[in-house]
Amino acid sequence: MIIIKTIDGITSRLRKFRSIHSSIGFVPTMGALHKGHISLLQNCKQVCELAVSSIFINPTQFNNADDFKKYPVTLEQDIYTLEKNGCDVLFLPDTNEMYPDETIPKKHFDLGQLEIILEGKYRPGHFQGVCQAVKRLLEIVMPSHVFMGQKDYQQCMVIKKLLEIENLNTQLIICTTLREENGLAMSSRNLRLSEKQREDAAAIYKTLRHVKQNIRSGSLLQLKKDAQDYLSGNNFKVEYVEIAEADNLNIVDEWDGVTRLVILAAAFIGDVRLIDNILLKD
Ligand code: AMP
Repeated sequence: MIIIKTIDGITSRLRKFRSIHSSIGFVPTMGALHKGHISLLQNCKQVCELAVSSIFINPTQFNNADDFKKYPVTLEQDIYTLEKNGCDVLFLPDTNEMYPDETIPKKHFDLGQLEIILEGKYRPGHFQGVCQAVKRLLEIVMPSHVFMGQKDYQQCMVIKKLLEIENLNTQLIICTTLREENGLAMSSRNLRLSEKQREDAAAIYKTLRHVKQNIRSGSLLQLKKDAQDYLSGNNFKVEYVEIAEADNLNIVDEWDGVTRLVILAAAFIGDVRLIDNILLKD
């Protein structure tokens, strides 16, 4: 695996590669890698001739300074893991490389309602920051495919929109969520959970599964309220449990029994914020 820290370095390296091969796969991450990230890399290697990953803890997507400060960093281990799992190129820019001129006003991406609902509502500015970093990374790497996790469902919808509005020639591949044995979605933030909290946090997935098993056409209000109450009663500070149309995230209170749905949740356990989702009708 080659590690490249500069834009010039990765641009010339990939230019050479592009002259011979057609597919470059890209797995952007913020590090603290776990098996979920590695599954993206494995998908990438199946589809593309070259697997590029990046580690960049993007400051502009943290709406909470404390969350940024506490974000886990395990760089040495990450490099080892990527190399062992067949990553070809690791792009490792620092903040100055990504955002060299702080005086340039930030572009605003028109994300429509995606920006103000669910994660957008509770993390103002988050998706603008995500778009700023991902657009920059995509323009540098110019991948044929970018691999992202369903775990961050709304983020996937945002990136789909970004690719459309910026006319970027990259295909988004959404990969399934990897979970711990108890059902807890793998996340870099899980490193901040105690053993007991890790066990308790499995209640989120359990609740989502419960809704999936009990959903019927008609009003969904009681089912959503029961799910929220269950989590609140189990020491979570719930931000939302919502059911939405899987294709556009329009919130659904009354279901026709046919439309594809997704249930999404965000809740704190202690001071760690966790998100998860599952499709209710595949
Ligand atoms: P992050 O490092 O948290 O920014 O995540 C980098 C990529 O890994 C994103 O596309 C995430 O959606 C994806 N990812 C995070 N957790 C998981 C998981 N448990 N399973 C699959 N993909 C994941």
